[in-house]
Amino acid sequence: MVDAPYPELDDLLRAIGEAGRRVADIEASEGAAGNISVCIRWAVEPRTRFPVVDELELPQAVPELHGACLLVSGSGRRLREIIDDPTANVACLVVGEEGRTCRMYTSHHRRFERVTSEFNSHLAVHADQVRHTGTNFHAVIHAQPIHLTYLSHSARYREAAYLNAHLLRWQPETIVNLPEGIGTVPFIMPGSSALMEATIASLRKHRIVVWAKHGVMARSDVSIKRAADRVEYAETAARYEYLDLCAGGIGEGLSEDELRAICRTFDIRPGWL
Ligand SMILES: [Zn+2]
Repeated sequence: MVDAPYPELDDLLRAIGEAGRRVADIEASEGAAGNISVCIRWAVEPRTRFPVVDELELPQAVPELHGACLLVSGSGRRLREIIDDPTANVACLVVGEEGRTCRMYTSHHRRFERVTSEFNSHLAVHADQVRHTGTNFHAVIHAQPIHLTYLSHSARYREAAYLNAHLLRWQPETIVNLPEGIGTVPFIMPGSSALMEATIASLRKHRIVVWAKHGVMARSDVSIKRAADRVEYAETAARYEYLDLCAGGIGEGLSEDELRAICRTFDIRPGWL
């Protein structure tokens, strides 16, 4: 939930650009991989930045998002380039009555035809969070961080308990920033409704989920940069784990007692520890 005074459209576009650049800087978005969307439920006037208007069907009905504004990265666009020219890389969708259609506002110089191919998952996660928490703001990032994705190619790291026990042990910040741990879903075809359903279920309980053999999806109801931070915290943990595997597993990591002490100090109650 974001409190008034609410960020302006230009502030949000800049934040999306900065988050996209950071995700690219940590090597979680090669080429045109990765995508970003933000759902805003306060009044936004899109036409000053996005004068071209098209009517579109939404991939699924989202009545809870009626009137919401979604800023969504375009298909095939590079996250690292959004900051240079946000309106060329991002569309602004305003959800219509009953949540079946939207008005897509874009710039005359947009460099994409459609919004991201993972839009169905973005939209469904926004709708699910709004339905359950009533938040007025929600941000989602899909990224492909190398170490997290690499670990998901190993069956044991696709088990949520094993993954969390091994990743949250390297830095005290990790459990503080990801107190519910990291969710996991098996490999599911990108862009499919099955991936969308699994993602909704996992992101209801977690702030970030690993899509096995593909990447991650992270969310935040505070800011787009907070969602990018979650990608970075989880990827840093995976990088430690990878280093430890390469070093022959000599690192001890934080013990369960140490992790419990961190949780007590920061008043965190993770269900899984
Ligand atoms: Zn992807």
